[in-house]
Amino acid sequence: MPRGTTGGTPQVLLAHHLKQLKLPTVLREYDKVARECARDGVDHPRYLLRLIELELIDRERRTVERRIKAARFPAVKSFDTFDFTAIPTLNKMLVLELARCEFILRRENVIALGNSGTGKTHAALALGLAACQKGFTVAFTTAAALVHQLMEARDERRLLKLQRDLQAVKLLIVDELGYVPLSPTGAELLFEVFSQRYERGSTIVTSNLPFEDWTSVLHSERLTGALLDRLTHHVHILTMNGDSYRLKQSSGSCRSSASDKRAEQKQATADAVDPNTGEISAT
Ligand code: ADP
Ligand code: MG
Repeated sequence: MPRGTTGGTPQVLLAHHLKQLKLPTVLREYDKVARECARDGVDHPRYLLRLIELELIDRERRTVERRIKAARFPAVKSFDTFDFTAIPTLNKMLVLELARCEFILRRENVIALGNSGTGKTHAALALGLAACQKGFTVAFTTAAALVHQLMEARDERRLLKLQRDLQAVKLLIVDELGYVPLSPTGAELLFEVFSQRYERGSTIVTSNLPFEDWTSVLHSERLTGALLDRLTHHVHILTMNGDSYRLKQSSGSCRSSASDKRAEQKQATADAVDPNTGEISAT
């Protein structure tokens, strides 16, 4: 057992060294764990092992927190709070498979399409959170904000740097493509982002518009075609059409009713017996 848990000098030096080695959990816990180990008759190697394991667990937690902060999510949401029965058009098996984040390793994309309030942003945030937890770097933005950022960077002659940063993240989430029409320059800059990420990193796009209407946002048919070509080459489509969850919730019909339970059971049965439900849908 470490001696000298009282008395000044070794503790002061130890604190200094542990700080320098960036082992804050060891510093915080070593005395307490030492007392526990003395009480339980645990030997030196096991004492050290316990401490180091605590440091590793904490370090992983801190890294995930840093990734979440860097991702700039407008809110932290997960699938734990996502009610799949509220959106029957959504392939739950596919979503849960995507939440394992293997699509990011394969550099595939995800496009969530559907009307307003159907949980597209929630699902994108939850996938983003899962990615942070699995060790991927993530950036969340809206199409309008991204275009604004790109135009500003171009004006300030730092476009290349921003483009490089956007290329480097493992998962880029571009929310709300379609609410705001983009200027021709904006559309081209957005195209460049998708083009530069093509087969290099994963991108999630959410849109209230079906593909055939994307020209109305990007203006040029040629550009829309080229953009869709890249984005949909390796893609998983999440179809999210239905009633707005916001409206349903405010009218109170979202509470678990008998029919919701039946739908849930039906979904569970379908998931269990249909071998196609887990399959990746792609265009
Ligand atoms: P969209 O992006 O499709 O317009 P949001 O994801 O912003 O919709 O959803 C609107 C609100 O309703 C959010 O607060 C979201 O968390 C919630 N919500 C939507 N769908 C669901 C769902 N299936 N389960 C739980 N919450 C949901
Ligand atoms: Mg949204």
